[in-house]
Amino acid sequence: MTNSSQDNKEKKKTKAGEHLSKIMKEFYIGQHMDAQAGKFCVWAAIIVPLEILRGFDIIVGIPENYSAMTASKGLGGTQCERSHQLGFSPDLCSYARIDIGNNLNPLADAQMPPLPKPNLIITDNNNCSLLAKWFDVYHREYNVPHFILDVPFCYNPQDYDGNNYILSQYKDLIKLIENMTGQKHDMDKTREAMNNTNEALKHWKRFMNVALHKPAGITAFDSFVQMATFVTLRGTAQLVEQYKLLADETEERVAENIFPVPDEKYRLLWDNIAPWHQLRKMSNRLQQLDTNIVYATYTSCLGTIEGGVDLYEYDGVDPLKHLARTQNFSVCPYGLELRYEVLEKLVERCGIDGVVFANNKSCKVYSLMQLDLQKRLVDKLKIPSIMIDVDHADVTRYSEEGVFIRIEALLEQIDRYKNVC
Ligand code: SF4
Repeated sequence: MTNSSQDNKEKKKTKAGEHLSKIMKEFYIGQHMDAQAGKFCVWAAIIVPLEILRGFDIIVGIPENYSAMTASKGLGGTQCERSHQLGFSPDLCSYARIDIGNNLNPLADAQMPPLPKPNLIITDNNNCSLLAKWFDVYHREYNVPHFILDVPFCYNPQDYDGNNYILSQYKDLIKLIENMTGQKHDMDKTREAMNNTNEALKHWKRFMNVALHKPAGITAFDSFVQMATFVTLRGTAQLVEQYKLLADETEERVAENIFPVPDEKYRLLWDNIAPWHQLRKMSNRLQQLDTNIVYATYTSCLGTIEGGVDLYEYDGVDPLKHLARTQNFSVCPYGLELRYEVLEKLVERCGIDGVVFANNKSCKVYSLMQLDLQKRLVDKLKIPSIMIDVDHADVTRYSEEGVFIRIEALLEQIDRYKNVC
């Protein structure tokens, strides 16, 4: 390991990385304390706009994020197996299997105790219908209501009717929580939360832009880790603080010529969810190949609207309208045209040498169009690419050697391509 990468790791430990661990730990401990004190608890899917829920004094747990954390700690395979013991199919999304294992068949000495039990479940069908089915398991098991946001699929920019349709469901959701908790929703708090999210996302884009530098100031793995804060702490002042610290620290490192892959020779783009069980291993091994996955579609989409990469800013007026407009920000609901638009923008903007399409055995909706995307990318931009097999959270469905054989083949393709051009 070079001195600069050692220094880099030290700095990460002492600044944004440490702060992230601290606030996430406080968040999870705080949730359990609040639950013991009898506070109303909601489980929400990651694309549910938490800014609305910040208008109430309630606990908000995010099971998908908890599954990703379980996988990143190397416990995903065990928890998947515990859901299979209950009869759940190994073909289901590994987030669902881990979470069901965690909640319905927990280990007696679990390193990560389950989230506090919910009084209400809120999901959406933006990304996939499996998500709603997974939370229906808890709806039956815990006998609590399950509110599903019905979000139109996204082939084109959202129109007036689409925006109103989502908006009307937000209003129904607010009424439901008011009825269940006896609290009155505080729109000023939701507005404040929306302002916090907007501010945090400006810092996020500053952080992500450091990837444009050559060599890049970050890896996509840094963005995967830091994205977790967004999905749990959307709308909070802690998120603003975390992302400001992160962007400032990252920019400082670049100014001091400290880079995660100092001898960066190959700049890659990642398409799909993070391989949570491989973050450290994969980034270390890539570093030895002077290769950096500098950017990912998965993390570039925060704060955008369909097909975009830059922040779609909140105008400070109607937070619900803005949330409805950005409800489809994640990549999964896009049609092929929008998926391709994002890819092409990222390849050109980030100076990408090759694209890694990660065919994710768990997330069919993210993976389904990848062959078409790959073909179009190669035809149009003539850029080298590979398709690898991964599972974002179930390590038993991943072969490290198989993946690296393909990555090395991609690097050879890039060398040949550069020699020809
Ligand atoms: S299949 Fe994909 S979109 Fe659906 S819950 Fe799993 S990770 Fe999320």
